[in-house]
Amino acid sequence: MTAARRVLIVGGGIAGLAAGVELVDDPAFEVEIWEAADRLGGKIATSSFAGLDHIDEAADAYLTRVPHAVAFARKVGLGIDDLTAPTGVGAMVWHDGLHDIPGGILLGVPAAIRPFVTTSLLSWKGKLRAAAEPLLPRTDPDDSLGRLIRTRFGDEVHDRLVDSLVGSIYATDTDRSSLAAVPQLADLAAKHRSLLLGGMAVRRRAPAPTDSPIFGAPRRGMAGLVEAAASYVTGRGGVITTGRTATSIEADGPRWRVDDGTFDAVILASPARHTAPLLATVSPEASTGLGSFEHADVIMMRLTVAADQWPQQLTGRSGYLVPKPDQRYVTAASFASQKWAHWAPPDGSQLLRVSLGRDGLPTAHLDRDAAIAATIDETGRHLGFDLQPVDISMTRWTDAFPQYRPHHHRLVADLESVLPPTIVLAGASYHGIGIPACISGARRATARIKDTPR
Ligand SMILES: Cc1cc2nc3c(=O)[nH]c(=O)nc-3n(C[C@H](O)[C@H](O)[C@H](O)COP(=O)(O)OP(=O)(O)OC[C@H]3O[C@@H](n4cnc5c(N)ncnc54)[C@H](O)[C@@H]3O)c2cc1C
Repeated sequence: MTAARRVLIVGGGIAGLAAGVELVDDPAFEVEIWEAADRLGGKIATSSFAGLDHIDEAADAYLTRVPHAVAFARKVGLGIDDLTAPTGVGAMVWHDGLHDIPGGILLGVPAAIRPFVTTSLLSWKGKLRAAAEPLLPRTDPDDSLGRLIRTRFGDEVHDRLVDSLVGSIYATDTDRSSLAAVPQLADLAAKHRSLLLGGMAVRRRAPAPTDSPIFGAPRRGMAGLVEAAASYVTGRGGVITTGRTATSIEADGPRWRVDDGTFDAVILASPARHTAPLLATVSPEASTGLGSFEHADVIMMRLTVAADQWPQQLTGRSGYLVPKPDQRYVTAASFASQKWAHWAPPDGSQLLRVSLGRDGLPTAHLDRDAAIAATIDETGRHLGFDLQPVDISMTRWTDAFPQYRPHHHRLVADLESVLPPTIVLAGASYHGIGIPACISGARRATARIKDTPR
């Protein structure tokens, strides 16, 4: 019988853990995960706040329209009772006041006419400009999401809808980000000259809405997924070590020496910027390429507002987004206890999660007091009352969101092609930032290793 192949996974975020889950099922592999921090999860963290045990400090939901996270949660043992879904209430955009996001949109792109005629979010000038979209010739966006939307619909639809929505999901500036990184819109642009007419056709063909929610989450917070994945790996013989940073990789015959260990294959599930120095000897070209990736920092504030301070008219909403031209530091606020039924504090207060910073809007220079002051000042102004939080907590996420610039996918393909087949990349830097994409990227990475003969 041939000995099992030893695989080292660098990084114990969701991508590294998903790679571990995928490999430990196969007796042909012996799996080790090294995580530099003293806890697993990377950009996923859940902790107690405001008298509730499991409130997320970052990601709070995964998309269920794509199967990866749903299937992964099931595989690592989370049952129907362990999972929950948002209440489904609608969101708003702040622009000189709060406006409901109009219906009939695809990630902010208009795909219906009536909601756009009636929305208070756009001016008449903005609406007329957007209405000209079906008459325009095809646009060559050169993989720039911002260029596509500005050219087709004008600045208002871009700033107040598409950039607000996509920008807040990825902490990005869509004027500098890749269209291909948002497949739903890239697909629309590839197949249709007019995005409005194409979007209307897509909506007509879409199956009738069902009761199944678009997002899901573990009841114990997103760390519940991390814990279940880690138990799955260790329960099947995988070894996970926290507080262990990989610092160098050198060739050792056909194998790889990583610090004081020797492995047949290495999955680098650390963010691109952290991965770059590890590849300096193995592939200077990949190392330089990965070193050029940019990341945006964000701050997540959790705060509670006393029940008697909360304006009635904000009931039944999930939160709001702030368009780029209106941003100072706050980019979005989630009314977390209205978005999630199980996040209602026992004293009846409202739990909010407020995001600060994004690509082009740095927050690293804000100390804790300045970040709290900005949060209270701006959120209070947006909500229209003198906000006085009862509890407040702050989590600083450095290098939180890799930025996918135009032609990102081509760059990643080029970098992957220069790496030896037994060194593979996984994680948010490459094939998608959301949790489902990190999980599917990890499967892709493990498939590459499984497909490579010893
Ligand atoms: C505030 C915020 C909100 C978000 N909200 C959502 C959401 O609602 N839904 C969603 O789907 N996604 C969301 N995301 C995105 C998603 O959570 C992340 O993209 C994803 O968790 C990243 O996982 P990862 O494993 O690729 O990287 P990471 O989580 O960054 O994990 C990489 C790990 O590698 C470790 N590491 C780095 N270098 C080394 C080394 N040399 N040796 C050993 N270990 C190393 C790091 O310590 C880290 O733990 C959010 C992200 C943030 C920051």
